[in-house]
Amino acid sequence: MVDYLSYEEALERILAQCPPPVKVTLPLEQCLDRVLASPVHADADVPPFDKSFMDGFAVRSADVREVPARLAVVGEVAAGADSLPSVAPGETVRIMTGAPVPPDTDAVQMVEESRMVDGSTVEILKTVAPGRNVSRQGREVARGSVVLEAGRLIGPGEIGVLASFGQARPEVFRSLSVAVVSTGDELVPVDTRPRFGQIRNSNGPMISALCRRLGLKVESEVSVGDDPERIAEAIRFGLKFDLLLLSGGVSMGEYDFVHRVLEREGAGLIFHKAAVKPGKPICVGRKGSTLAFGLPGNPVSAFVTFQLFARPMIRRWMGFESVSLRRVEATLTQAVSHKPGRTFFKPARMEWSGTLRVSPVETGGSADLTGFARADSLLVIPSHVSGIAAGAQASVLLLDADPGRGRLA
Ligand code: AMP
Ligand code: MG
Repeated sequence: MVDYLSYEEALERILAQCPPPVKVTLPLEQCLDRVLASPVHADADVPPFDKSFMDGFAVRSADVREVPARLAVVGEVAAGADSLPSVAPGETVRIMTGAPVPPDTDAVQMVEESRMVDGSTVEILKTVAPGRNVSRQGREVARGSVVLEAGRLIGPGEIGVLASFGQARPEVFRSLSVAVVSTGDELVPVDTRPRFGQIRNSNGPMISALCRRLGLKVESEVSVGDDPERIAEAIRFGLKFDLLLLSGGVSMGEYDFVHRVLEREGAGLIFHKAAVKPGKPICVGRKGSTLAFGLPGNPVSAFVTFQLFARPMIRRWMGFESVSLRRVEATLTQAVSHKPGRTFFKPARMEWSGTLRVSPVETGGSADLTGFARADSLLVIPSHVSGIAAGAQASVLLLDADPGRGRLA
């Protein structure tokens, strides 16, 4: 058998060709699921002033050392107050949660520990230590400190942090543009009933969806048959974007032109064929700063090779540190056999029952997308083994896990 590149070698070659992520500024509402490109510093202390934690009375703690203590209520401070009353000994003011604490006072007693004697006198029923129920200025974050490091994945929490420090247009790594091209004379669009010999194009919509899930902008999605001229035209157009994802036409058949046309159009191949199952015929090329992937036509192979080869490159280019599918160890529920030679990424399902367990999903092979779509993971069977026994620990790649924490500055 020809010695194809191993999965690891092939992936390394792709990542070595990956252009560096590019910084852009974006409106905050478009930053979810992006990677932060530069650190964010606090533009103010948090809290920005001594702030009350409670609804109650701002007091001089010395005034309530003996309780009950009667104090004159001389005013009120609500959240958002822009001026503060002065509070003399023997006096207090009502204060609301989030309101600034007057400088003459040093503690807040909660309303539950008080009793109104009349409209302007309150009895504080319990002593309070100095500083009680007061969040001191700068206690959480000091002005100028780093609140988010470069490389952080921006989730909803980070959106809130960015908002609280006035980051209306944070610097993030830009997304990528992509053109999707399906080849094959047998393909008809989703809204057409196939005649004899034809099938519907599932790869086009599926690959576009895989791209959108990663936050890419799908600029075009076309189906061009097996005519080398139309394939060349689609490749020339697609090479204008960051990524060109083709499917079909990369094997050894009479009508498999994709790798040849890619080369002819100046996208030199980084490799063609890797020792993986499914998806052996995959080819990857580069022209300028555009990466072109020729994914195999069988839909399962196209899906799996996208996840194994295109996804890590896309994530690296978008500034993520964790670029591959998340890998876990799980107990295999039934034996699997394997013909050594290629790393087998077998569709599987995970289940938690005190331990993490993984079961292969039986499918009709790499054309059976319906069967494959039931899988939530890929069981990794190393190329050199002839199988894995039931009950053994096996390595599994999670297909639909959350994006994970990004981290690459
Ligand atoms: P190919 O890699 O072009 O030899 O295609 C391998 C198999 O995948 C053939 O059975 C094709 O009909 C099928 N195939 C290719 N492209 C698509 C597509 N876009 N959607 C569904 N099936 C496809
Ligand atoms: Mg074909």
